[in-house]
Amino acid sequence: MSVYNFCAGPATLPPDVMKKAQAEFLNWQDMGVSVMEISHRSEPFLAVAAQSEARLRRLMNIPDDYAVLFMHGGGRGQFSAVPLNLHVEGKAAVYCNSGVWSQGALDEANKFIETVNINVRKDTATGFDVTPASDWNLPLDASYVHYCPNETIDGVELFDVPKHPTAPIVADMSSNILSREIDVSAFDLIYAGAQKNIGPSGLTIVIIKKSLLERKGLPRPGILDYSLEHKQGSMFNTPPTFAWYLANEVFAWLEAQGGVKAMEAINKQKAELLYDFIDQSGFYSNKVAKHCRSLMNVPFWLNNEKLNDLFLSQANQAGLLALEGHRSVGGMRASIYNALPLEGVQALVDFMAVFAKENG
Ligand code: PMP
Repeated sequence: MSVYNFCAGPATLPPDVMKKAQAEFLNWQDMGVSVMEISHRSEPFLAVAAQSEARLRRLMNIPDDYAVLFMHGGGRGQFSAVPLNLHVEGKAAVYCNSGVWSQGALDEANKFIETVNINVRKDTATGFDVTPASDWNLPLDASYVHYCPNETIDGVELFDVPKHPTAPIVADMSSNILSREIDVSAFDLIYAGAQKNIGPSGLTIVIIKKSLLERKGLPRPGILDYSLEHKQGSMFNTPPTFAWYLANEVFAWLEAQGGVKAMEAINKQKAELLYDFIDQSGFYSNKVAKHCRSLMNVPFWLNNEKLNDLFLSQANQAGLLALEGHRSVGGMRASIYNALPLEGVQALVDFMAVFAKENG
């Protein structure tokens, strides 16, 4: 039986990558040791670091005036790093609030700096909705503008990018990086925890316009200091080397699949299959307005919530894992990141159809 893992993160990784990692686990590059047992400053590891950056630059078409950092601390580490590095004396930072994770970023920033909270959600009694970024009313005087293009828990994705005449645009792409083509130059800082579309948890990607590295910000820990990490090649302290090595392998896998453009086409097919099925089922529902439905995280509810436990246990038996919704919202959630194949979504839809028939 095939097993498909719909966990929101840490999430499923490409089987080919896992097999390669397994094959070279004890003996990497014929060195007789694992990649996780060698110095991060050794030639072979520095080659991994350089190769992964080059691959990510190619995959995302990252312009030369952007630095790429491989940091620690996940998305929440960046919730602190962003205000600490980008603060400008006398200016507030603008946080556009579209759900649980943008609220989390705002709460963390409030510990350090003055912020302005712009609510961009416009939920109705029955559904979730977000105002398109082109309609956001952003204050002119801002140190930066932060938003979350894909709210992992709410299943809400923003497909347009906010614009500001002076303030840098900062995006938390933890759950949608590399899922579709974006124009990196529309952003000034992109960050993402690795554990969804990139690799194991512990690694965090930061793509930052080099001119922003000059900002004085606030006193901060060295491991959260962008400028220091840039000068040190992301090795101010010992980086999460095994996660970094695996990320490099995932980038290679993505290139072999045809890159982000090819992934986007499959991701759209996967999402359409699942949303269309849910919408026409009469048994399940998704509460998100169509224009902002996430391609990566699909929350859904059984109309009869008393069947939730039965649904989850039967799904588990059918090899469809981790479908329980986030504890804060309940229901179900299928995370369908790059490494979750179309066949996995088809298997889920087939299972959901049978379950509805048997219990409707
Ligand atoms: N931002 C987003 C959009 C997320 O989905 C998550 C985690 N699910 C985080 C931030 C927090 O990431 P971490 O647990 O790596 O700190």
